[in-house]
Amino acid sequence: MTKGTPSQGKSGKDTHIRCRRCGKRSFNRRKGYCASCGFGRSKKKKN
Ligand SMILES: [Zn+2]
Repeated sequence: MTKGTPSQGKSGKDTHIRCRRCGKRSFNRRKGYCASCGFGRSKKKKN
């Protein structure tokens, strides 16, 4: 173990990538939807 970016128990890659709808880094690549706007999960935009 070394100092640096804490991995928070996750293995390696980022769980969230940039959402192409809202532009935030909230698109969950494992679940396949955006946690912020709901892209990929529902048609309505979550407020
Ligand atoms: Zn989004």
